[in-house]
Amino acid sequence: MPDVIRWTGEHTLSATVVVTPRGVAYADAAQDAQGRDRFGVLWQLCGGQSTGRPAYAASLHPARQKAAMEDLRCAVCTVPADRDASGMRWVLPLPDDVTPDAVWEGVRTSVPPLCALHADSAPRLCPRLREGHGRAEGSGGS
Ligand SMILES: [Zn+2]
Repeated sequence: MPDVIRWTGEHTLSATVVVTPRGVAYADAAQDAQGRDRFGVLWQLCGGQSTGRPAYAASLHPARQKAAMEDLRCAVCTVPADRDASGMRWVLPLPDDVTPDAVWEGVRTSVPPLCALHADSAPRLCPRLREGHGRAEGSGGS
């Protein structure tokens, strides 16, 4: 099971969101600190246990997704993502309004990249990617 997928035993935590002069924040300072990445982006909070079944239809687990994106690690196995002369490998679920021949140049995503092994196997093994996916390569930088 991919590291960034939620288990059915995990759920989004409720947290009061406020608008401050510095932007959107969680009202609770500890939750706000927990929910921010090193770029200051506020992420959802998730609780519960990694139990039950893989929740492929749910959004990704925010803490594991955040960690994989910050360090550009494989979304499945957490090793450093594969990189070659073209950049890193991303295999992204195909949005409903995009055709399979769409150009992926300049695409921004919050889905972590993959290692070479999982860039090859994920489209066959992941239910969401089997419904449609696109491949992209890029720097992973902003
Ligand atoms: Zn991997």
